[in-house]
Amino acid sequence: ALQVCLPLNALGFVYREARDAWVNAERLFALLRERPEIRDPPDAPALRVGAGDIVFEHVHFHYDPGRPVLVDVNLHIAAGTTVAVVGRSGSGKSTLARLLLRYYDPGSGRILIDGQDIRQVAAASVRAAIGVVPQDTALFNDTIGSNIAYGRLGSTHGEVVAACRAAQLHELIAALPLKYETPVGERGVNISGGEKQRIAIARAILKDPPILIFDEATSALDSDSEHAITQELDRLSRNRTTLIIAHRLSTVVNAHLIVVMDRGRIVEQGSHAELLRRRGMYARLWLLQQRMDKETPH
Ligand code: ATP
Repeated sequence: ALQVCLPLNALGFVYREARDAWVNAERLFALLRERPEIRDPPDAPALRVGAGDIVFEHVHFHYDPGRPVLVDVNLHIAAGTTVAVVGRSGSGKSTLARLLLRYYDPGSGRILIDGQDIRQVAAASVRAAIGVVPQDTALFNDTIGSNIAYGRLGSTHGEVVAACRAAQLHELIAALPLKYETPVGERGVNISGGEKQRIAIARAILKDPPILIFDEATSALDSDSEHAITQELDRLSRNRTTLIIAHRLSTVVNAHLIVVMDRGRIVEQGSHAELLRRRGMYARLWLLQQRMDKETPH
Protein backbone atom coordinates (compact mmCIF):
# COMPACT_ATOMS: atom_id res chain seq x y z
CA ALA A 1 0.00 0.00 0.00
CA LEU A 2 2.89 2.32 0.75
CA GLN A 3 4.07 2.49 -2.83
CA VAL A 4 0.56 3.32 -4.04
CA CYS A 5 -0.27 5.84 -1.33
CA LEU A 6 2.87 7.92 -1.28
CA PRO A 7 2.91 9.19 -4.87
CA LEU A 8 -0.79 10.10 -4.65
CA ASN A 9 -0.25 12.01 -1.44
CA ALA A 10 2.87 13.56 -2.87
CA LEU A 11 0.94 14.79 -5.87
CA GLY A 12 -1.52 16.56 -3.59
CA PHE A 13 1.34 18.40 -1.99
CA VAL A 14 2.76 19.32 -5.35
CA TYR A 15 -0.34 21.06 -6.56
CA ARG A 16 -0.94 22.87 -3.31
CA GLU A 17 2.62 23.95 -2.78
CA ALA A 18 4.22 24.09 -6.19
CA ARG A 19 4.44 27.85 -5.94
CA ASP A 20 6.62 27.80 -2.83
CA ALA A 21 9.91 29.61 -3.34
CA TRP A 22 11.82 26.59 -2.15
CA VAL A 23 10.37 23.24 -2.96
CA ASN A 24 11.43 19.94 -1.54
CA ALA A 25 13.10 17.61 -4.01
CA GLU A 26 10.84 14.68 -3.31
CA ARG A 27 7.72 16.79 -3.43
CA LEU A 28 8.48 18.18 -6.84
CA PHE A 29 9.52 14.93 -8.36
CA ALA A 30 6.18 14.16 -9.99
CA LEU A 31 5.80 17.69 -11.27
CA LEU A 32 9.24 17.72 -12.83
CA ARG A 33 8.43 14.96 -15.19
CA GLU A 34 5.85 17.30 -16.66
CA ARG A 35 8.32 20.16 -17.08
CA PRO A 36 9.01 20.31 -20.82
CA GLU A 37 12.32 22.15 -20.72
CA ILE A 38 13.99 19.54 -18.53
CA ARG A 39 14.27 16.70 -20.95
CA ASP A 40 16.95 14.04 -20.89
CA PRO A 41 18.90 13.61 -24.12
CA PRO A 42 17.88 10.39 -25.87
CA ASP A 43 19.58 7.39 -24.24
CA ALA A 44 21.06 9.62 -21.55
CA PRO A 45 23.38 7.52 -19.41
CA ALA A 46 23.11 7.53 -15.64
CA LEU A 47 25.45 9.81 -13.73
CA ARG A 48 28.50 7.88 -12.57
CA VAL A 49 28.99 9.26 -9.11
CA GLY A 50 32.34 9.07 -7.46
CA ALA A 51 33.30 11.35 -4.62
CA GLY A 52 30.83 14.07 -5.65
CA ASP A 53 33.02 16.87 -6.99
CA ILE A 54 30.83 19.78 -8.15
CA VAL A 55 31.73 22.58 -10.56
CA PHE A 56 29.59 25.52 -11.69
CA GLU A 57 31.21 26.95 -14.81
CA HIS A 58 30.11 30.38 -16.06
CA VAL A 59 26.52 29.65 -15.11
CA HIS A 60 23.90 32.21 -16.15
CA PHE A 61 20.23 31.71 -15.38
CA HIS A 62 16.88 33.50 -15.40
CA TYR A 63 13.33 32.38 -14.64
CA ASP A 64 11.81 35.29 -16.57
CA PRO A 65 13.49 36.79 -19.65
CA GLY A 66 15.15 40.09 -18.84
CA ARG A 67 15.46 39.30 -15.12
CA PRO A 68 18.82 37.60 -14.59
CA VAL A 69 18.94 35.56 -11.38
CA LEU A 70 22.41 34.01 -11.69
CA VAL A 71 25.19 35.90 -13.44
CA ASP A 72 28.44 34.16 -14.40
CA VAL A 73 28.58 31.90 -11.36
CA ASN A 74 31.86 30.01 -11.05
CA LEU A 75 32.09 27.72 -8.07
CA HIS A 76 34.04 24.61 -7.16
CA ILE A 77 32.62 22.48 -4.37
CA ALA A 78 35.45 20.04 -3.85
CA ALA A 79 34.47 16.45 -3.13
CA GLY A 80 33.77 15.84 0.52
CA THR A 81 33.84 19.51 1.51
CA THR A 82 31.13 21.75 2.91
CA VAL A 83 30.29 24.98 1.13
CA ALA A 84 27.87 27.48 2.68
CA VAL A 85 26.10 30.04 0.52
CA VAL A 86 24.99 33.25 2.19
CA GLY A 87 23.44 36.45 0.92
CA ARG A 88 20.35 38.55 1.14
CA SER A 89 16.92 37.15 0.42
CA GLY A 90 16.49 36.86 -3.33
CA SER A 91 20.23 36.84 -4.09
CA GLY A 92 19.95 33.44 -5.80
CA LYS A 93 21.03 30.94 -3.14
CA SER A 94 18.14 28.50 -3.57
CA THR A 95 18.38 28.81 -7.33
CA LEU A 96 21.92 27.39 -7.18
CA ALA A 97 20.51 24.32 -5.43
CA ARG A 98 17.60 24.00 -7.87
CA LEU A 99 20.03 24.02 -10.79
CA LEU A 100 22.24 21.42 -9.13
CA LEU A 101 19.16 19.21 -8.71
CA ARG A 102 18.39 19.91 -12.35
CA TYR A 103 14.99 21.38 -11.69
CA TYR A 104 16.11 23.93 -14.27
CA ASP A 105 18.94 24.06 -16.77
CA PRO A 106 21.34 27.02 -16.93
CA GLY A 107 20.71 29.54 -19.70
CA SER A 108 24.41 29.20 -20.45
CA GLY A 109 27.40 27.64 -18.76
CA ARG A 110 27.58 24.17 -17.28
CA ILE A 111 27.31 22.27 -14.04
CA LEU A 112 29.54 19.24 -13.66
CA ILE A 113 29.34 16.45 -11.12
CA ASP A 114 32.46 14.29 -11.12
CA GLY A 115 33.34 15.71 -14.51
CA GLN A 116 29.98 14.98 -16.16
CA ASP A 117 27.74 17.76 -17.44
CA ILE A 118 24.46 17.14 -15.64
CA ARG A 119 22.52 18.00 -18.80
CA GLN A 120 24.06 15.01 -20.53
CA VAL A 121 22.95 12.41 -18.00
CA ALA A 122 19.54 11.20 -16.79
CA ALA A 123 18.07 13.81 -14.43
CA ALA A 124 16.71 11.09 -12.14
CA SER A 125 20.23 9.77 -11.61
CA VAL A 126 21.41 13.26 -10.62
CA ARG A 127 18.64 13.53 -8.03
CA ALA A 128 19.35 10.02 -6.78
CA ALA A 129 22.87 11.16 -5.88
CA ILE A 130 21.69 14.16 -3.86
CA GLY A 131 19.99 14.20 -0.48
CA VAL A 132 17.98 17.30 0.39
CA VAL A 133 17.21 18.54 3.87
CA PRO A 134 14.66 21.25 3.11
CA GLN A 135 13.72 23.91 5.60
CA ASP A 136 10.12 22.86 5.57
CA THR A 137 9.71 19.14 5.20
CA ALA A 138 6.56 17.76 3.67
CA LEU A 139 4.93 15.14 5.88
CA PHE A 140 2.43 12.75 4.40
CA ASN A 141 -0.78 11.63 6.09
CA ASP A 142 0.79 8.40 7.19
CA THR A 143 2.71 7.03 10.17
CA ILE A 144 5.91 8.70 11.31
CA GLY A 145 7.75 5.46 10.46
CA SER A 146 6.53 5.52 6.85
CA ASN A 147 7.33 9.21 6.62
CA ILE A 148 10.95 8.47 7.49
CA ALA A 149 11.15 5.29 5.40
CA TYR A 150 10.29 7.53 2.46
CA GLY A 151 13.96 8.56 2.47
CA ARG A 152 14.61 5.26 0.73
CA LEU A 153 11.66 3.18 -0.33
CA GLY A 154 12.21 -0.43 0.63
CA SER A 155 14.14 0.32 3.81
CA THR A 156 13.48 -2.02 6.73
CA HIS A 157 12.12 -1.01 10.13
CA GLY A 158 15.55 -1.69 11.62
CA GLU A 159 17.15 0.74 9.17
CA VAL A 160 14.52 3.37 9.96
CA VAL A 161 15.19 3.01 13.68
CA ALA A 162 18.96 3.26 13.14
CA ALA A 163 18.48 6.45 11.09
CA CYS A 164 16.26 7.89 13.81
CA ARG A 165 18.83 7.12 16.47
CA ALA A 166 21.45 8.92 14.41
CA ALA A 167 19.12 11.90 13.92
CA GLN A 168 18.32 12.07 17.66
CA LEU A 169 14.70 11.24 16.92
CA HIS A 170 14.38 7.74 18.27
CA GLU A 171 13.76 8.61 21.92
CA LEU A 172 11.14 11.13 20.98
CA ILE A 173 9.31 8.62 18.77
CA ALA A 174 9.67 5.78 21.26
CA ALA A 175 7.92 7.97 23.85
CA LEU A 176 4.81 8.36 21.67
CA PRO A 177 1.94 5.99 22.52
CA LEU A 178 1.95 4.39 19.06
CA LYS A 179 5.69 4.84 18.56
CA TYR A 180 6.65 4.44 14.88
CA GLU A 181 2.99 3.81 14.03
CA THR A 182 1.95 7.30 15.19
CA PRO A 183 0.07 9.15 12.45
CA VAL A 184 1.49 12.51 11.36
CA GLY A 185 0.42 15.00 8.72
CA GLU A 186 -2.71 17.12 8.71
CA ARG A 187 -4.62 15.11 11.29
CA GLY A 188 -1.67 13.62 13.14
CA VAL A 189 0.48 14.68 16.09
CA ASN A 190 2.02 18.10 16.14
CA ILE A 191 5.57 18.14 14.90
CA SER A 192 7.72 21.20 15.57
CA GLY A 193 9.87 22.84 12.92
CA GLY A 194 13.03 21.41 14.47
CA GLU A 195 11.56 17.90 14.59
CA LYS A 196 10.49 18.16 10.97
CA GLN A 197 14.01 19.05 10.00
CA ARG A 198 15.30 16.07 11.96
CA ILE A 199 12.84 13.86 10.08
CA ALA A 200 14.40 15.19 6.88
CA ILE A 201 17.85 14.42 8.31
CA ALA A 202 16.75 10.86 9.14
CA ARG A 203 15.49 10.49 5.55
CA ALA A 204 18.85 11.71 4.26
CA ILE A 205 20.70 9.26 6.53
CA LEU A 206 18.63 6.44 5.03
CA LYS A 207 19.28 7.65 1.51
CA ASP A 208 23.02 7.93 2.24
CA PRO A 209 23.79 10.12 -0.80
CA PRO A 210 27.29 11.31 -1.78
CA ILE A 211 25.96 14.88 -2.11
CA LEU A 212 23.84 16.75 0.41
CA ILE A 213 21.91 20.00 0.17
CA PHE A 214 20.91 21.52 3.45
CA ASP A 215 18.45 24.40 3.39
CA GLU A 216 18.70 26.08 6.74
CA ALA A 217 15.40 27.16 8.31
CA THR A 218 14.69 30.85 7.79
CA SER A 219 13.04 31.35 11.13
CA ALA A 220 15.02 30.71 14.27
CA LEU A 221 14.42 27.37 15.98
CA ASP A 222 14.64 27.13 19.74
CA SER A 223 18.28 26.91 20.76
CA ASP A 224 18.11 23.21 21.78
CA SER A 225 16.73 22.20 18.36
CA GLU A 226 19.19 24.47 16.67
CA HIS A 227 22.10 22.92 18.52
CA ALA A 228 20.87 19.37 17.80
CA ILE A 229 20.45 20.12 14.12
CA THR A 230 23.85 21.76 13.80
CA GLN A 231 25.41 18.66 15.36
CA GLU A 232 23.47 16.29 13.10
CA LEU A 233 24.43 18.34 10.11
CA ASP A 234 28.11 18.21 11.07
CA ARG A 235 27.93 14.45 11.31
CA LEU A 236 25.84 13.98 8.17
CA SER A 237 28.07 16.21 6.06
CA ARG A 238 31.28 14.45 7.01
CA ASN A 239 32.71 12.70 3.92
CA ARG A 240 29.92 14.07 1.75
CA THR A 241 29.93 17.02 -0.57
CA THR A 242 27.61 19.44 1.18
CA LEU A 243 25.95 22.63 0.01
CA ILE A 244 24.38 24.66 2.80
CA ILE A 245 21.94 27.40 1.93
CA ALA A 246 22.44 29.51 4.99
CA HIS A 247 19.87 31.99 6.16
CA ARG A 248 21.23 32.85 9.55
CA LEU A 249 25.01 32.32 9.40
CA SER A 250 24.78 29.98 12.40
CA THR A 251 25.94 26.93 10.46
CA VAL A 252 28.53 28.55 8.24
CA VAL A 253 31.47 29.22 10.54
CA ASN A 254 32.91 25.74 10.13
CA ALA A 255 32.25 25.41 6.40
CA HIS A 256 35.36 24.83 4.30
CA LEU A 257 34.25 27.61 2.00
CA ILE A 258 31.72 30.40 2.40
CA VAL A 259 30.27 31.93 -0.74
CA VAL A 260 28.58 35.32 -0.59
CA MET A 261 25.95 36.06 -3.21
CA ASP A 262 24.54 39.42 -4.15
CA ARG A 263 22.02 39.93 -6.95
CA GLY A 264 22.91 36.64 -8.60
CA ARG A 265 26.68 37.08 -8.49
CA ILE A 266 29.27 35.54 -6.23
CA VAL A 267 30.85 38.63 -4.70
CA GLU A 268 33.15 37.03 -2.11
CA GLN A 269 34.38 33.58 -1.22
CA GLY A 270 36.71 32.27 1.47
CA SER A 271 36.79 30.89 4.98
CA HIS A 272 35.05 32.64 7.85
CA ALA A 273 38.33 34.13 9.08
CA GLU A 274 39.37 35.26 5.59
CA LEU A 275 36.05 36.90 4.94
CA LEU A 276 36.04 38.71 8.28
CA ARG A 277 39.47 40.09 7.45
CA ARG A 278 38.19 41.38 4.12
CA ARG A 279 35.68 43.60 5.92
CA GLY A 280 33.31 43.25 3.00
CA MET A 281 29.72 42.13 2.72
CA TYR A 282 30.21 38.95 4.79
CA ALA A 283 31.81 40.87 7.64
CA ARG A 284 28.89 43.29 7.60
CA LEU A 285 26.30 40.49 7.58
CA TRP A 286 28.15 38.80 10.42
CA LEU A 287 28.24 41.91 12.60
CA LEU A 288 24.56 42.52 11.93
CA GLN A 289 23.73 38.95 12.92
CA GLN A 290 25.76 39.24 16.14
CA ARG A 291 23.91 42.40 17.06
CA MET A 292 20.52 40.80 16.34
CA ASP A 293 21.40 37.70 18.38
CA LYS A 294 22.29 39.92 21.33
CA GLU A 295 19.01 41.75 21.09
CA THR A 296 16.92 38.56 20.83
CA PRO A 297 17.09 36.75 24.15
CA HIS A 298 16.85 32.91 23.88
P1 ATP B 1 15.81 33.40 0.10
O1 ATP B 1 16.95 33.63 1.05
O2 ATP B 1 14.68 34.35 0.34
O3 ATP B 1 15.37 31.97 0.01
P2 ATP B 1 17.41 33.15 -2.29
O4 ATP B 1 18.71 33.84 -2.18
O5 ATP B 1 17.39 31.68 -2.09
O6 ATP B 1 16.32 33.82 -1.35
P3 ATP B 1 16.17 32.56 -4.82
O7 ATP B 1 15.02 31.82 -4.25
O8 ATP B 1 17.23 31.79 -5.51
O9 ATP B 1 16.84 33.50 -3.73
O10 ATP B 1 15.56 33.65 -5.82
C1 ATP B 1 16.37 34.50 -6.62
C2 ATP B 1 15.48 35.40 -7.46
O11 ATP B 1 14.70 34.62 -8.35
C3 ATP B 1 14.49 36.22 -6.65
O12 ATP B 1 14.40 37.49 -7.24
C4 ATP B 1 13.18 35.47 -6.80
O13 ATP B 1 12.10 36.36 -6.73
C5 ATP B 1 13.31 34.88 -8.18
N1 ATP B 1 12.60 33.59 -8.32
C6 ATP B 1 12.74 32.51 -7.52
N2 ATP B 1 11.98 31.50 -7.94
C7 ATP B 1 11.31 31.93 -9.03
C8 ATP B 1 10.37 31.34 -9.93
N3 ATP B 1 9.97 30.08 -9.79
N4 ATP B 1 9.90 32.11 -10.94
C9 ATP B 1 10.31 33.39 -11.10
N5 ATP B 1 11.20 34.00 -10.30
C10 ATP B 1 11.70 33.29 -9.28
